[in-house]
Amino acid sequence: MPSFCVNRSAQSNGDHEVHDNSIERSCLPMLSNRQDLGYHASCSSAVQAARGYYTQVNGCAHCAPACHTG
Ligand SMILES: [Zn+2]
Repeated sequence: MPSFCVNRSAQSNGDHEVHDNSIERSCLPMLSNRQDLGYHASCSSAVQAARGYYTQVNGCAHCAPACHTG
């Protein structure tokens, strides 16, 4: 089961992006900007967890495309 993080730093549109740590893509935020979300079976539950921290949350288009909107 992959672990996820949410970027503490919002995108220019205000979204806080949720990333899959196991993917190891260059899209991952800097370590200091990663709010750990723990392990999730899917990005959708990781997004739910991220909503506990931020109201505007979106899946990363690169490593969590199933949860990316807009
Ligand atoms: Zn990503």
